[in-house]
Amino acid sequence: MRELLVYGLKGVGAYYYHAAALGYEDDEITAFIQRALASTLRSLTVDEMVGIVLECGGVGVKVLALLDTANTAAFGTPAITRVRTVPGTRPGILVTGHDLKDLELLLEQTKGTGVDVYTHGEMLPAHAYPTFKKYEHLIGNYGGSWPFQKEEFEAFNGPVLVTTNCLVPPKDSYKDRIYTTGPVGFAGCTHIPVLENGTKDFSAVIAHTQRCRPPKNLHGNSRPRRVSLFGEKGSEGNRALITGCAHGAVLALADTMIDAVKSGAIKRFVVMAGCDGRQAERSYYPEFAQALPRDTVILTAGCTKYRYNSLDLGEIGGIPRLLDAGQCNDCYSLVVIAQALAEAFGVGFNDLPISYNIAWYEQTAVLVLLALLHLGVKNITLGPRLPAFVSPGVLNVLVENFGIRKNTTVAEDLKLLVPET
Ligand code: SF4
Repeated sequence: MRELLVYGLKGVGAYYYHAAALGYEDDEITAFIQRALASTLRSLTVDEMVGIVLECGGVGVKVLALLDTANTAAFGTPAITRVRTVPGTRPGILVTGHDLKDLELLLEQTKGTGVDVYTHGEMLPAHAYPTFKKYEHLIGNYGGSWPFQKEEFEAFNGPVLVTTNCLVPPKDSYKDRIYTTGPVGFAGCTHIPVLENGTKDFSAVIAHTQRCRPPKNLHGNSRPRRVSLFGEKGSEGNRALITGCAHGAVLALADTMIDAVKSGAIKRFVVMAGCDGRQAERSYYPEFAQALPRDTVILTAGCTKYRYNSLDLGEIGGIPRLLDAGQCNDCYSLVVIAQALAEAFGVGFNDLPISYNIAWYEQTAVLVLLALLHLGVKNITLGPRLPAFVSPGVLNVLVENFGIRKNTTVAEDLKLLVPET
């Protein structure tokens, strides 16, 4: 239980760091971090530990809301956005991680330099913010989630700026192209520091890019998918990803969504947020997404979406069947959407037609889980493996108090999570 708490606190720290970078701070959050860390040195009963773990979930909701406020105040309200994935012909810089402020600084400094900027991994949702739509040289997203960094960074041909993200130790073949900044660092890679005036100087990254070849097209010669999700086809057909389905954009569709639920066109929402990882079992997630009946809508956020966000899942009455709220911190949006639905239907969280099939990996996912538990969400399915710290004793607490279970097979989980099938 102590380890669960410490992972949750790491998640609080990660999100708080980004909110604070945008000028949003909260003494109650930092005071809780100190008090909770101090509690790990004391001998507590199981009930006391459950209490502080759930309190961490409550602080998690608070820090997620703080970061949501900070991001939307700084960069605007995300809109549902189609993002190209076919690279252009100029050399580029690939930006990965969560730090939108770093992305903005880089985009300002790359204006008129003849280089393009691409997002990778957790940076994909940046395309949905009005601030970033202004930059024409932010041309698309390249690749997927962190487990595929080695292949994708190699193929990118240009520098990669790592802000905050899961980072795979780089191969020697492209290590000289990796630049880190903020809390990220890696031996042998150049670090871009914060200057005294609070800004950063990316001129070395830009000069490096100008000597590089353009990115290799990861799609090869494959044909674009046939059906358009939004009817508006870009020059690259349907090789595009949809993001920006955060609470602002989705709640603008609330009436359509509520009507679709009332008419039975949408029978269920399935939250498939969370992390990605290397394990072969993660092929479960695209299989599960594809096996879901066509009257279900997937709500997602975080890296796990890359397992299925290029699938053609279609739409229901104009609502995409895959709603990607954004980064893992944008799970907050999923909570806001669920709260709005609960209010609209006059029911509690657990009475909504929503199931939770969360993909698990590390501390930020732990915090999102604790936040859901704090909100009283029950019967969450986790996979593909439970973390090592979930000992039989902790599992008992989670099962008895919250009905948490590990995922099994697509067929079995479908019966349980989508009882309408
Ligand atoms: S969603 Fe999870 S796997 Fe992806 S960068 Fe965030 S913490 Fe890492």
